[in-house]
Amino acid sequence: MSFAQKTNMSLNTISHPRKPRPDELVPSRYALPVGEIDVLVVSDGVITPPADAMATNVDPAVREAWQNDMFLAPDAYDWALNAVVVRSGGRTILIDAGLGLEYPDFPRAGQLGLRLEAAGIDLASVTDVVLTHMHFDHIGGLLVDGVRDRLRRDLRVHVSAAETKFWASPDFSRTAMPPDMADLIRRAAKRFLNEYHSQLWPFEAEHEVAQGVVVTRTGGHTPGHSVVRLASGGDRLTFAGDAVFPVSFEHPDWHNGFEHDPEEAARVRVRLLRELAANRESLVATHLPFPSVCHVAVDGEAFRCVPAVWDY
Ligand SMILES: [Zn+2]
Repeated sequence: MSFAQKTNMSLNTISHPRKPRPDELVPSRYALPVGEIDVLVVSDGVITPPADAMATNVDPAVREAWQNDMFLAPDAYDWALNAVVVRSGGRTILIDAGLGLEYPDFPRAGQLGLRLEAAGIDLASVTDVVLTHMHFDHIGGLLVDGVRDRLRRDLRVHVSAAETKFWASPDFSRTAMPPDMADLIRRAAKRFLNEYHSQLWPFEAEHEVAQGVVVTRTGGHTPGHSVVRLASGGDRLTFAGDAVFPVSFEHPDWHNGFEHDPEEAARVRVRLLRELAANRESLVATHLPFPSVCHVAVDGEAFRCVPAVWDY
């Protein structure tokens, strides 16, 4: 049964500090097929990073003007937080895991567990996790109390070897984020490595997780940052993780304060956006507005995000 056909809306049997909201008016998941592959974008909610982290290499007045043009609040901007579940070749693959529940500064995120359950996806059915990188908003959902116990013992966690190596002794010298946030990020990555070390399946440059599901290291945002490419029956979709942000279409060269190598991150971004535009495949990214499914068009030196039409 595909995600699109699944209508299980059961919202009970949860031990979770947040109450299930069966009357939730905002849609929290969006299913689409990529050839034979089932794809489900699931929202973990919204986080609000500090506005000055959006662009660290431009005059703040330029950044503020852009925020104003985009109807974004001046001090902190809303960032969607999307994860993806993919089913292919008998495997159920969770790509990134949201923020988790330990961060009171981000009370609108951490909803992935509830929303997977609402979608009828049991954690015990997940055979693989793919991590684009190990920032807390991508691994936190795996650190929520009780989650590891509900996951399979033979779960495979695919993450690039460069990423696990980096977080053993991370370098924040090129980032521009509040120091307390850097501490939280360091701590979450360390805890993740401790708790999941026996289930890690590190890869070097590229790894086929399941039929048509390939994770490829890009570096840039973090040294081991990776994207996931889906291909089946002539259809293609890329989950870009943090290689592409909402601002990146108009300003692909703007450095983000969460990037550990901002110049390389910009090169990775431009290369990826050009490639997606050239082969006309779909894009989904962590922080693009939910459900984030779009195409990329070239627009002079920059790009445009062309949202997909929702198919109900
Ligand atoms: Zn992120």
